[in-house]
Amino acid sequence: MKETEVFMKTAILSVGTELLFGQITNTNTVFLSRQLNLLGFDVLYHYTVGDNSGRLSDMIEMALTDCDLLITTGGLGPTEDDLTKETVCRVLHDELVMHQPSLNHLYDIAKRRGRAMTPNNYKQAMMPSRAQVFDNEAGSAPGFALREGEKTVICMPGPPREMTWMWEHRVRPYLEKLQTGVIYYRMLRFFGIGESSLETELMDLIDNQTDPTLATYAKEGECSLRIASRRETLEEAKEAVEQMVQKVSERVGQYLFSCDDEDLETVVAKKLLEENISVSACESCTGGMFSAALTNLPGISAVFDRGLVTYTYGAKMEELGVREETLSAYTAESSQVAREMAEGLAAKTGSRLCISVTGIAGPGGGTSEKPVGTIYLGCVFDGVYHGRELRTRNVSRAWNRHYAVLCMFDMIRKILDDGESGQNKRQDAEK
Ligand code: ATP
Ligand code: MG
Repeated sequence: MKETEVFMKTAILSVGTELLFGQITNTNTVFLSRQLNLLGFDVLYHYTVGDNSGRLSDMIEMALTDCDLLITTGGLGPTEDDLTKETVCRVLHDELVMHQPSLNHLYDIAKRRGRAMTPNNYKQAMMPSRAQVFDNEAGSAPGFALREGEKTVICMPGPPREMTWMWEHRVRPYLEKLQTGVIYYRMLRFFGIGESSLETELMDLIDNQTDPTLATYAKEGECSLRIASRRETLEEAKEAVEQMVQKVSERVGQYLFSCDDEDLETVVAKKLLEENISVSACESCTGGMFSAALTNLPGISAVFDRGLVTYTYGAKMEELGVREETLSAYTAESSQVAREMAEGLAAKTGSRLCISVTGIAGPGGGTSEKPVGTIYLGCVFDGVYHGRELRTRNVSRAWNRHYAVLCMFDMIRKILDDGESGQNKRQDAEK
């Protein structure tokens, strides 16, 4: 049943050959997607089609097979190539009739500009007979909403200024009324588990629930889960969501780092601040990216002492006291060097938490024993050493560096939570 679904399935259709030629950027779709998501509509598709009646009607039909709501922009003007209104009308089995208030509006505009009415103006004032018409104070072309059964199509003009005006003043209020109840949702963020594994772990919850609904999303190196409920009152919706959050964290809690859609770096930086833990970093293959990410949080200077980029053997020896023997015996990309880097940094700075990273970011420089993406992390926290080895199996330099930084934050999070520390400590001590 449609009513039990929390989010209305929505598609956005942009009409205009200019868009297909790349002559204009499709800012309308970006704007509408954000707005619709905020309002609790699930935008499933973005379509773009040129000013061609056949393809336009195909698109509308296709969109409406999957979605309950279709929002179009563009092609509402008075000229020959403006076909949206006629086509939507045909697909939804309605006919165009003269809409007197729209015609009056066009009269006024013509009068103000000292021009006579043209046949085009009359065309522009024709509206589907069953439509709810949206007047346009920012321009000439009115918009409208047309329903057939469970399906709703909303058409808005293409010029962004007119579209945003109509959204704010006409379409958003219309859509708010279309929804019943209150939506509450939380966005959970995970690291260390892929989207498909997360889905597998939660399969029965995802399959059986109509409210709350669960939806997973993959992001670079992490994934998210949106848990949403629509109920009559906010309290009911909140309670349903919180219960599901509880269930989910019982199953996959070790990967869960935020229930409030926060970045891993933000969660960790906040924790360091809250617990007043002084921190320093020394980086080889990430070239300062960790320190840059950490310093995204305002106020971090209260705990962040310094970040060193020690790229060469010389820099590692001079700045961190890494021993030449260690470097020549194991190379710079080794757990031994990661350890000496972190310990050297701790001795130098006295920071309670000192983290190091060294490895092969690629695309070249890998060996069969240590392929590209072999990266070592080291961390000294209150005098205790923790080590971690990554094998990303990826040759992209950008990816490896990005992923290494995420893993550094993840490692700190776990050490602070007193999670995996024991196991890795032992592993590293054996090497
Ligand atoms: P008009 O009455 O101006 O003809 P219309 O509703 O017919 O309005 P279009 O002719 O499709 O709209 O587009 C008019 C102008 O609006 C385009 O030239 C472009 O500058 C802008 N525009 C249209 N669609 C988009 C879009 N998706 N994103 C950003 N700008 C757009
Ligand atoms: Mg036009």
